[in-house]
Amino acid sequence: MNKAGRALPILSLLLLAPFACPQTRPPRAALPAEVHSLKITILSTMLADDGIGEWGFAALVEADGRKILFDTGARPTTVLENARELKVDLNGVQDVILSHYHDDHTTGLMTLRREFSKNNPSALSRVHVATGIFLERRGHLLNPMIQMKKDYEATGGVFIVHDKPEEIFPGIWLTGPVPRVYPEKNYSAGTEVNTGTAWVEDNIPDDQSLVFNTSHGLVLLSGCGHSGIINTIQYARGFLRPAPMDAAIGGFHLFAASDQELAWTASKLKEYHTARILGAHCTGIESVYRLRELMGLTRQTCLVGTIGAVYDLNSGIKTGPIAR
Ligand SMILES: [Zn+2]
Ligand SMILES: [Zn+2]
Repeated sequence: MNKAGRALPILSLLLLAPFACPQTRPPRAALPAEVHSLKITILSTMLADDGIGEWGFAALVEADGRKILFDTGARPTTVLENARELKVDLNGVQDVILSHYHDDHTTGLMTLRREFSKNNPSALSRVHVATGIFLERRGHLLNPMIQMKKDYEATGGVFIVHDKPEEIFPGIWLTGPVPRVYPEKNYSAGTEVNTGTAWVEDNIPDDQSLVFNTSHGLVLLSGCGHSGIINTIQYARGFLRPAPMDAAIGGFHLFAASDQELAWTASKLKEYHTARILGAHCTGIESVYRLRELMGLTRQTCLVGTIGAVYDLNSGIKTGPIAR
C-alpha cells in the first residue's frame, strides 16, 4: 500500500470526528454515578393519618440497598414510635444527616442512637453535618448541638463536618452550606450566631440538603429549606448536573411566603422542570396547594407530606388520603 492509500482513511476519520458521537462523548467514568433504586419515607412532620404528628422533620432514605436517616424529629421518641407503628425498619442505619441545628430536626438523635446501638454499636454511629452547626447562638433560639456533640461523642459516635458538596455514596450528594444567591429569606428573625469574630443575624449557615442523581433527573430532600429551595436546586444543578428535577421532598419553609414569593418560586421550579413535590413540615399546607396550581401539577404529583408518605423513584408519591 502506498503512502496516499494509508493517509486517506486517517484524514477521513479526522474530518468525521466532530460528527461521530462515540469519539466526542466523555469517557463513561466521567459521568456522575446514578442511584438506581430510591425510596424516601417521612417519619416526622405535622400531618398524620397513622403515627404521631409534630412540628419537625425526619425521613428514612433507602437507596440501592443502603439506609440513611435524614433528620431525627422534634421530640425524643417521635421517629422511634412512628417507625414502629408504620413498620419501617430502622435497623441497618449507620449514617444520619442533620440538615441544620434546629431542635425540630435534631432532638431524636440521642434516643435513636441509644436504642439501636444496644444491639449494634455501629447503628447511627456517623452523623453528617455542615460547617457552622456547632456555632453558638443567642436571642430567640439557642443551639442544642453544642451539648449534643458531647453527649453523642460520649456514645462513640462521630460527626463528619462538610464544608462543600460531597458525594457520600455513589449518586448521593450532600450540598454542604448553600450559597444564598437569591434573597430567599426562609428563616425567622431574632436569633444571632457567633461567627467567632462577631455576632451576626443567624441565617442558618449550616443548612444543607441531600441530592440524588437518578436516570429521572435530580431528587432533592430538604429539612427546613432555610437556604431557599431555589438557591439549593440551583447550587445542586451547578455542582452535579443541570438535569430536570424529578422531585423536591421535605420542608421548604414556605408556610409564610407571600403570593409574590410563591409565584416566583413556582416559576423557577417550572424552569427546572420539577415533576413532583412532596411538601412536608414548614413548606406549609396552603403553600403546597398554591404551588400545585401555579405549576400545573396534580393531586398525584404535588402533595402535602404526611407521616408515612413515600416517594419512590419508580412509582412516584404515595400518601394517606388526607394529603390530597
Ligand atoms: Zn429550622
Ligand atoms: Zn424545621
